[in-house]
Amino acid sequence: MIQMTDVSKNFGQEKVLNQINLTISDNELVVLLGPSGAGKSTLLRCINGLERVSAGSVSVDGKQVTTNKKELRLLRKNIGMIFQQFHLVKRMSVLDNVLCGRLAYTGTLSSIFKRFERRDYELTLHYLEKVGLVDKRNARADELSGGQQQRVAIARSLVQEPKLLLADEPVASLDPKTANSILELLSLIKNEEKLTVVITLHQMDLAKKYGKRIVGLNNGQIVADMAADLISIDELYQLYEDQALISQ
Ligand code: ATP
Ligand code: MG
Repeated sequence: MIQMTDVSKNFGQEKVLNQINLTISDNELVVLLGPSGAGKSTLLRCINGLERVSAGSVSVDGKQVTTNKKELRLLRKNIGMIFQQFHLVKRMSVLDNVLCGRLAYTGTLSSIFKRFERRDYELTLHYLEKVGLVDKRNARADELSGGQQQRVAIARSLVQEPKLLLADEPVASLDPKTANSILELLSLIKNEEKLTVVITLHQMDLAKKYGKRIVGLNNGQIVADMAADLISIDELYQLYEDQALISQ
């Protein structure tokens, strides 16, 4: 699904990603761990072409991530993204926020203003049901709790019918119980929708619990890549101390 080959990314003099080689297969759930500034978000942004790599290549589903606008648009249709801060339109209803995920299918910019079609509404209600928020469809987004807002953001990414979901610290603003429920939901959705999921996290216990595979990033390099069930939480902590993978 994702193939990164010798990927480096510089911002000015700073080398933020340094010779990354990473292959992620279809239907994998990978957790990306690493301290603040390790390059996790940058790595995700290189996958959906929000950042242009300085060297090396990235492909998704066999297609090269390019800078060509038309190709990028097609690529991003297949990639859902969710964020720590949810990025909902606060004054809009839950339903309209989720419908916005269908804008990827409205064609050219001028047709954004076309009326959504029946299928757009059906998918919206289907995924709102799936994330447990169909009853809140008429509420304003900012009337919801953080966990509920993240569920809306997940539904918005799913109506896009993506093959790949990138989640950049999706639980960083949530309490532990809610964080668990969101990761639970992402695991469930991964299986039901046959998605490939990459999640950046800071918490090792959650990484071990929900990641099938854990990739550690430090100073822009991959310093660990392991099956989560083959490492104990103590060993993970030790590795993390050795590699300074956790934020101090
Ligand atoms: P965090 O856990 O805090 O989210 P991260 O691992 O996601 O950190 P990145 O956001 O990828 O780290 O940032 C890695 C480095 O790249 C940081 O030093 C950051 O300042 C730098 N960086 C990221 N984006 C840009 C940008 N657009 N311009 C300049 N520097 C940037
Ligand atoms: Mg980040």
